[in-house]
Amino acid sequence: MLKVENVTKYYDDFKAVDNLSFEVNKGEIFGLLGANGAGKTTTFRMIMNLLEPTSGKITLNGQVINYDITDKIGYLTEERSLLLKLTVKELMIYYASLKGMVKEDIENELKKWLKRFKIEEYENKKIKELSKGNKQKIQFISAIIHKPELLILDEPFSGLDPINVDMFIEVINELKENGTMIIFSSHQMNHVELFCEKLMILDHGKTILKGNLKDIKSNYDERKILVKADASKTELKKLKGVKNVLIKGDEIELSIEDKKYVESIFKYITKCKNVTKFEVVELSLHEIFTKEVGVRNEE
Ligand code: ATP
Repeated sequence: MLKVENVTKYYDDFKAVDNLSFEVNKGEIFGLLGANGAGKTTTFRMIMNLLEPTSGKITLNGQVINYDITDKIGYLTEERSLLLKLTVKELMIYYASLKGMVKEDIENELKKWLKRFKIEEYENKKIKELSKGNKQKIQFISAIIHKPELLILDEPFSGLDPINVDMFIEVINELKENGTMIIFSSHQMNHVELFCEKLMILDHGKTILKGNLKDIKSNYDERKILVKADASKTELKKLKGVKNVLIKGDEIELSIEDKKYVESIFKYITKCKNVTKFEVVELSLHEIFTKEVGVRNEE
């Protein structure tokens, strides 16, 4: 288990991370989210032992993070940093040796992963000759080749086409099934919803939301109601609890302040003609993120 306990990080007198605590268990994908500058990279660097917390404690399977333990961690950084003049094989031998692997194992694992990602022919090609998506595959392989117990994925899908996104998703889910602890960070909330049961949102270093995605969504009182019926926008706007009405093609989307208004709105809709749809939906993570982070930055 990765345990981050009351971790604070100052850069001089600037507090970049403020009393952060979370846990990631084996076989769990944990979402660490936040707007630009929220403190995510600082947190990842402390987990990687590249930065020392000003206060607090980080442990992996009960051991305080140190240089030896970081061999058990894989980190796909947001910025893409490959050594362009090396070939794929040379690069992988360099990176994986730093993680304690021997040459023969590196070569075998590399072959396996290149085949899996359908880029076997690039083994002896220079990194600079690869397309953006293929460079991304190589960087991903370099983060997982040593079979890390903890894997940090910062924007793993940036620059990938939909087919490659699906390929990455399949591999990430397999790693999870095999017991890898995964921290997933992305500004693409739809990807986070796809993967993460547990998550936290940071803003200016502080935790503003934390918990199970399902609970976070159901505890949020606001709802959307999707309706297909002959109903007037003006009349719908007058209903109690309705904040906004949007017409989307043949569908009407009502934003309501609180789920307690669903019943009265339902009663109103049943009196309309040609009703073919009435669906109550929770806010998406994207909407919750925008509300939470937006509101705090206005305070
Ligand atoms: P992004 O999504 O943009 O990558 P982030 O959540 O990863 O952002 P961090 O890079 O951890 O955010 O930065 C958190 C805060 O700490 C920011 O205000 C940043 O300017 C500041 N910061 C980061 N590194 C340093 C440093 N070496 N010295 C001083 N301040 C820093």
